Amino acid sequence: AGGNRVQVYTDELRVPVQQKIAAEARVRRALAGDPRLTLPLWFQPVVSTETGRIVGAEALVRMRTPDGEILSPFHFIEAAEETGLIVPLGEHVLRTAVEHLLQWSDRLGYISVNVSPRQLAEPDFVPMVESVLAALPGFDRSRLVLEITETALFTSAVDVSERLNALKRLGVRIALDDFGTGYSSLTWLKSLPADIVKLDRSFVAGLAEDARKASIIEAVLWLARSLGMSTIAEGVEEQADWEALRTAGCPAVQGYFFSKPLPSPEFEAMLLKSIER
Ligand code: C2E
Ligand code: CA
Ligand code: CA
Repeated sequence: AGGNRVQVYTDELRVPVQQKIAAEARVRRALAGDPRLTLPLWFQPVVSTETGRIVGAEALVRMRTPDGEILSPFHFIEAAEETGLIVPLGEHVLRTAVEHLLQWSDRLGYISVNVSPRQLAEPDFVPMVESVLAALPGFDRSRLVLEITETALFTSAVDVSERLNALKRLGVRIALDDFGTGYSSLTWLKSLPADIVKLDRSFVAGLAEDARKASIIEAVLWLARSLGMSTIAEGVEEQADWEALRTAGCPAVQGYFFSKPLPSPEFEAMLLKSIER
């Protein structure tokens, strides 16, 4: 793909070109304000293993088509990345996520938002985040978490560590997403100012029956703690895995066992229930 980048495709992962062009046109329409084609955020709770309560949420974008179908990011994020539409799409996601956080203010600790490598590389990204925050005097900025993946390190010409430092100076927190799936996870930990490690679900699913996974998780938990970082285990689907993570001292988890991502009214209802318990 140029430079020393290599991309691997399999047939299942490849979105046909025609579909990509259609996806691009739809993202454009949605961003232009077409009321029949929207980009709502769904929310997946992050749950404390200590209290069983919701401590935060990850905002995950969806596309709602004119016939009411809800499409996952798989169908349009890649096209948005390739065309640069991810930049306005990312701004929409950030602004909408912060609006929801304010609406749930005294019930939800934080919201995390995914930031693609292309967005992070954009010269205007830090000023854009700053302008969103500047409009909210008194807002505790650590309640906004930006999730970055390791690919940001290689696909971008900018100094990622400098960029993340600039974001940290604004007061937001940084999470390393899909941790463990890349080729340089330790470099990532060594050089980047992050607050949270999100352990990828490939290490989490089935860990209760897999001693090797359990050992890796214990080691990552220890490493993160030693570096002053918190850990969230992703993709917790089974009660046994949830219990194993709690026993291992993983502070927070996310996954279908507790809840799938939900549209905002349903997430809000769940949040209210979590507080009442
Ligand atoms: P991600 O950031 O790793 O998000 C987690 C994905 O795992 C979500 O898929 C979520 O629904 C799914 N998931 C959560 N719990 C479980 C579980 O227990 N088991 C399994 N098998 N899956 C689980 P989703 O919502 O389809 O998002 C897919 C990816 O699309 C995200 O992966 C993220 O990379 C990207 N994405 C989503 N929203 C945005 C966005 O607003 N901006 C950008 N740049 N990327 C986004
Ligand atoms: Ca994420
Ligand atoms: Ca992830």
